[in-house]
Amino acid sequence: MTTEGAKKLGAFSGIVGLKCPQCRQGDLFKKPGLYVVKGMADMYDRCPVCNLKYEQEPGFWWGSMYLNYGTSVAIILPTFIVFYSIVGLEFYTALSLGGLLLLLLVPMVFRLGRACWIYWFGKYKS
Ligand SMILES: [Zn+2]
Repeated sequence: MTTEGAKKLGAFSGIVGLKCPQCRQGDLFKKPGLYVVKGMADMYDRCPVCNLKYEQEPGFWWGSMYLNYGTSVAIILPTFIVFYSIVGLEFYTALSLGGLLLLLLVPMVFRLGRACWIYWFGKYKS
């Protein structure tokens, strides 16, 4: 399948599918899937289909950590509020449950953070 002839995924599908932002066919990560624990951060240097360089400058992925931080807060805070205010659990129990949920979601948050980062701030021809 060539890049020109292939039907391109939309940006949202490309991000969720962890596909290259340029051709939207090549995988970003060596092990496909949103929830991969072992080898979670193993990415290709270049797109296997269109050869786009993923890490476009040194430290490119540092920015995705800001997205991950925001996403983590967006997960842990509502979870804490629900368990503390609505369910009525102890402060540290509610906080621990929020932390546990976040811990379980780390692989997904990490991969989606990187995919969003390259789609929003990466240089590519769409
Ligand atoms: Zn590509």
